[in-house]
Amino acid sequence: MRKLILIVIDGLTPALLERGLESGLAPTISRFAAAGQLERAVSVFPSLTPVCLATIATGAHPGIHEIPHLVWFDRKERRLIEYGSSFAAARRSGALNWWRNTVYAMNAKHLGCSAVTIFEALEDHGFRAAAINATCFRGRVRHFPTLPGVTPPVLGPSRFFFYGLFESHETGASPTAVFRRASGSVDDYAEAAGRWLVTRDDFDFLFYYLSDFDYISHALGPDSADAALKRADGSIATIVEAAGGIDAFLDRYDVLLCSDHGQTPVHEGVRLDRALADLSLAGRRAYRGSQIVLTASNRAAMVYRLEDCPLETAELAERLGRDPSVQVVAYRNGDEAVALRNGAEFRFAPTVQGWRKSGEERVLDQPQALERLWSALANPNAGELLISAAPGVEFADLAGRHHAGGGSHGSLERGDSEVPMLAVGIERLPRSIAEIAPAILSHFGIAPPRYPEIFAAA
Ligand SMILES: [Zn+2]
Repeated sequence: MRKLILIVIDGLTPALLERGLESGLAPTISRFAAAGQLERAVSVFPSLTPVCLATIATGAHPGIHEIPHLVWFDRKERRLIEYGSSFAAARRSGALNWWRNTVYAMNAKHLGCSAVTIFEALEDHGFRAAAINATCFRGRVRHFPTLPGVTPPVLGPSRFFFYGLFESHETGASPTAVFRRASGSVDDYAEAAGRWLVTRDDFDFLFYYLSDFDYISHALGPDSADAALKRADGSIATIVEAAGGIDAFLDRYDVLLCSDHGQTPVHEGVRLDRALADLSLAGRRAYRGSQIVLTASNRAAMVYRLEDCPLETAELAERLGRDPSVQVVAYRNGDEAVALRNGAEFRFAPTVQGWRKSGEERVLDQPQALERLWSALANPNAGELLISAAPGVEFADLAGRHHAGGGSHGSLERGDSEVPMLAVGIERLPRSIAEIAPAILSHFGIAPPRYPEIFAAA
């Protein structure tokens, strides 16, 4: 059985990678491309990191893994769950809340029970799994934080390195590096852990997650992130050199390299609550008297309708659909989904043969839009209304922050949703990030988990 390394570069667009390969900016990835095949694949909706990484790690769509957005409303606890609207920024800040929500709760509480991670499946079958910085990491082995009290212990793979907060093995890198570093690179830590692991070659599968690219691309825009690509290529070169160079590396490992979502340039930050000004919006907690909860961040938003809301879901959708910042607003109506765009309406539902459709099909002309939207609407933690932003627009988050002038993602649109997919030694190239985990498990001779069918005909 050949060993496998999955490399995920957060936010890398296919266009920038293709350009980088031509211009020689990414020499290590070029060597992979020469030895394998490179195509484009599609992400999930919303195309936001926690949702995408949960899909990559489990092979499940959001309707099954139950992570709906960067920020969402927990109906049972009646409070907002915030993974950090700017994911990389929150991670850098070292904020305690981020560690508790993202690190601990996302894996221990929020990740759906019926979803199975690659780490769980592989180690159940006797393979050794390793994760470096991957934020969806649920596994079978208990790990205590290096700083006592920051989070309860977590269940991860047997080889587990997470921003210095969890380290299954002593590598010599400072265990609290992430907390001391106010700025700079979190990929430095990934490199140190990756070098240590590959030098010892003590794993069958490694998930090597590089997050700095997304952070830089948000700030500069996706077309100006060349230096970040060069940097990511360098982080990959580090583990290649640890194996003794590219030939020795590819001798030993098969490789799957991709990103979790794309990015598009944004020039405007919009507070979507402007469309709902006459309603009482909940803040961080759903106070009595609140009528709706709006969770907006990057290029996707959700609306939760509370008991006292005077408007029906369809009325809210029509209202939101009229705002120029909105490209598509969608909701479930009985056994079908309804999507609105510029006054046009499209209805769809899965059938045994495919889809039952009515209305104007051009409403959903984005890549794999029906599947992705249906699955997002099936997420029990999602709002009643899902909103995908118009091109160039970003929704400001609770604190009013946005990346106008830079890059963003989250929408159904092609630029946010397409990812590069590069495989060396993998027979069938995944066409969607949901096909990555099944491809990896098949590679190890393991049958992928059979998930409940959310596309079954009603
Ligand atoms: Zn991002």
